[in-house]
Amino acid sequence: MISYYSTNRSVPEVDLADALLLGQAGDKGLFMPSPIPRLSVDLLEKARDMTYADLAAAILAPYTEGVFPMTVLAEMCGDAYNFEIPIETVDATRCVMRLDQGPTASFKDFAARFMGRAIGRLVRERNQDLLILTATSGDTGSAVANAFLGVDGIRALVLFPINEVSERQRKQMTTLGDNVATVALPGKFDDCQALVKQAFADPDLVGLNLSSANSINIGRLLPQSVYYVYAASRLADIAGGEKVVFSVPSGNFGDMMGGVLALLSGLPVERLVIATNANDAVPRFLETGQYQKIVPSLKCISNAMNVGHPSNLARLVDAYGGQMDELGTLNTPPDMDNMRRDLFAVSIDDDQTLNTIGAAYKDLNLLLEPHGAVGWAGLTQYLNQHPDQAAAPAILLETAHPAKFPDEIQAITGAVPEAPPSLLNIERKKEHYEELPVDYDAFKNHLIRTYRR
Ligand SMILES: *Cc1c(COP(=O)(O)O)cnc(C)c1O
Repeated sequence: MISYYSTNRSVPEVDLADALLLGQAGDKGLFMPSPIPRLSVDLLEKARDMTYADLAAAILAPYTEGVFPMTVLAEMCGDAYNFEIPIETVDATRCVMRLDQGPTASFKDFAARFMGRAIGRLVRERNQDLLILTATSGDTGSAVANAFLGVDGIRALVLFPINEVSERQRKQMTTLGDNVATVALPGKFDDCQALVKQAFADPDLVGLNLSSANSINIGRLLPQSVYYVYAASRLADIAGGEKVVFSVPSGNFGDMMGGVLALLSGLPVERLVIATNANDAVPRFLETGQYQKIVPSLKCISNAMNVGHPSNLARLVDAYGGQMDELGTLNTPPDMDNMRRDLFAVSIDDDQTLNTIGAAYKDLNLLLEPHGAVGWAGLTQYLNQHPDQAAAPAILLETAHPAKFPDEIQAITGAVPEAPPSLLNIERKKEHYEELPVDYDAFKNHLIRTYRR
């Protein structure tokens, strides 16, 4: 059976249930699976004809063995992956997989929807319930809230700075209702974050079963390996060993780690192109073997990738035999040669990003948003430097819907991206949110009044 160890290696291994509920290991490390299961030849042969949900259940089964029976896993995947995953052909070898058809129109739905269901299932089995508290500066709140929407045993409360989120971002959180509530504060994201932290540390609130369900949870990483297998199976003879190039727009490198898991599980991958914006800590690390975080992170138009110290880097280092702690100190260097053979890292600045949106639209009839454009520019650079790879199937993971960036895209291409139903629906729904002052006692009273059993 697979167990989960901490990348800091100073606490015992746990099973998946504990890893999911703990989020982060007690020594501040990140959980990693051991051993990494192999994709069977049988599965590689059948993958092409499986639905996304069935493929997800088959790939995740070894990771969840002993915690979720197969029927339960299949049900969770069927429920989580009930939307389209379009693969758009660009030319003879290149295509774009659009991971933007979920409820928040971003690829984070793939991870969050599985994690939400998995954690919900566990707390129900244990006859517990959880109150998920999360502070957001914009997008994370709606991803977390959507992940837990309608999940029995869980209530979610999102705090957001009323004057710092866009109208669309606000509506994505405040129109959900059901088990998701929102609190608006007249302060900054840091004020929201501080109240949440104080609540977690408050002994008076222990009875509320507060939990954070943050982005480094192993429950978000595992399902991100599935779409690599899905895409490759549709484009290449993976059972026969035909290799695929992937390009992954990267910020915290959770998406990329899904690809690394797929690769280490035996998916024939030629190269993972990892493309960052100007926050180039990882491309520099691959080049020099030295790691230096970028503080503060740089503001780029691909704003979901404005990360100066990527949290999943410790997992990447671990996967290649090294050890990096939560502060970014490299205690044992990884096998850099191996890492460079699997990964090609590249940094794309905002000018290149905008030019790529324009050129892709004009020359290829391909509509990209800023994150995807970073990935496309990275792929182009990789192929230019590796002409021998020109015939390999290559797939860009487009991580957000172009309609999330209507102004930028219209200014460059003249085209107005059509909003998907997930973004249109929120316009018609009623908003609910509580307004509180930036004051811990007021927040605490609100929690006790609303959530005490
Ligand atoms: C979060 C996000 C990314 C970056 O993903 P990581 O897993 O953090 O590397 C890229 N694009 C979009 C649209 C995102 O929301």
